Amino acid sequence: MTEEAKSLTPADQDYQIKMKLSKNLSLSECLKSKTATRLGINNEPHDDWVVENLQAIAENVFQPCRDHFGVPIYVSSGYRSPDLNRAIGGSKRSQHMEGRALDLDCDVYGVITNAELFNYIRENLEFDQMVWEFGDEDNPDWVHVSYVHGGTNRKRCLRACRDDEGKVYYQVMYKQL
Ligand SMILES: [Zn+2]
Repeated sequence: MTEEAKSLTPADQDYQIKMKLSKNLSLSECLKSKTATRLGINNEPHDDWVVENLQAIAENVFQPCRDHFGVPIYVSSGYRSPDLNRAIGGSKRSQHMEGRALDLDCDVYGVITNAELFNYIRENLEFDQMVWEFGDEDNPDWVHVSYVHGGTNRKRCLRACRDDEGKVYYQVMYKQL
């Protein structure tokens, strides 16, 4: 099939934005972005496979966490269109552009900590890559997690840090999982 043939019509898109990806996560929660709104960037996915990937991470990562803790979990960033990813200076190969990554921030509701979420995912769920995003030894500022639908999930844990000049680098955590 060609790219055009797989593209969604505006009516399909409108329907899809309202859809639920899992019991407690809607597609619109994974598309919203203050930066996209501010800069007038369209952040709606144009391909079915992006929505399928979002559905897979919702069902296999988000919802098991939501069910285990029984509290709302805030998605601070889900899908990023290539334009949005460029605007925020995201990695060129960001899994957010494929609908394979979510940034989760429990501090928004403050019932559970980001560290609790991170450790639960690490010990109980399938995931491709998880990042302890900045913060300190006790708690990351947010948790980045990715899931590869129908592929290999590496269960790789990294910690994002900033050096003295503010440049971001990553340390591998828990090598022997
Ligand atoms: Zn992320």
